Amino acid sequence: SASKPLSSAVSALPLSVEFFPPKTPEGAEKLRAVRQQLYALRPEFCSVTYGAGGSTQDGTLQTVQAILDEGQQGASHFTCVGASRDSVREKLALFQSMGLRRLVALRGDLPSGYGGMGEFRYAADLVAFIRAETGDHFHLEVAAYPEMHPQAKSPEADLQAYVAKVKAGANSAITQFFFNTDAYFRFVDDAHRLGADIPVVPGIMPIINSSGILRFADSCGAEVPRWIRLRLQSYGDDTASIKAFGLDVVAQLCEQLRQGGAPALHFYTMNQSTATLEICQRLGLAQ
Ligand code: FAD
Repeated sequence: SASKPLSSAVSALPLSVEFFPPKTPEGAEKLRAVRQQLYALRPEFCSVTYGAGGSTQDGTLQTVQAILDEGQQGASHFTCVGASRDSVREKLALFQSMGLRRLVALRGDLPSGYGGMGEFRYAADLVAFIRAETGDHFHLEVAAYPEMHPQAKSPEADLQAYVAKVKAGANSAITQFFFNTDAYFRFVDDAHRLGADIPVVPGIMPIINSSGILRFADSCGAEVPRWIRLRLQSYGDDTASIKAFGLDVVAQLCEQLRQGGAPALHFYTMNQSTATLEICQRLGLAQ
């Protein structure tokens, strides 16, 4: 049956979930309900994205505060592109005063039209700065790209950039979403070979609709394999078929990652609970 777990030997696998800051009061209300549903999965932490360039930063802080108030572990994403040392110092003090212990430290991408690069060039600079300013207060996550960051000069340079973030003091990494497990396992092996042996947690993108995921994949350098793309396109606007197929594909992906030794799973929830809950039910990870 559809609800039968893929694996009979259910082993605990830590989970985390990611949200973006809602833009409207209705969105905030809806997200509150979504969070309550996802808390049933007992996530290790709930993270909230951060708009490089400033647009959503207040919304990020409000959402992180709500998560902390609900008694959950929160994590704020934190981008450094365009920022000054003083502005970062100020934000770190604010995060500390909120009681926050975990950050996802990123470079970010400035919206087009923004001028200067600010005082931080790469995420590794931000990680080093946070460590210098706040010691071990924060658990620092960084981004990893098993299929390579779109602006990287070469796969080797991108791997070195990742290793630099680890050497600067990152505690663990979350990957860009991917559908090719080989790329993930190779990335983990290559990083270990270079002495970067922090946990690399796969970022999982549930397939909720087809146009969204195809568009998004193009912009962030993730590959949607041809067979998945063609199947999605063939369903047209038959959303039930898209969701059923997406659930099969992503649950299989997670199962392969678990069997291959992935240390945890991080879900890009898109502020929705159903797809993430269904995947976890398939994996036998939901109570
Ligand atoms: P970096 O690690 O600094 O890498 C950026 C590029 O520079 C790469 O191409 C790298 O190869 C290159 N590079 C790094 N160091 C060097 C060097 N020394 N010399 C030469 N080249 C170098 N964006 C947001 O705006 N808000 C978010 O909340 C957010 N959350 C994210 C969460 C996750 C898990 C991931 C995977 C991405 C997220 N992003 C977010 C997107 C991210 O900001 C972009 O992918 C951005 O382009 C790169 O950020 P980074 O931290 O990986 O940068």
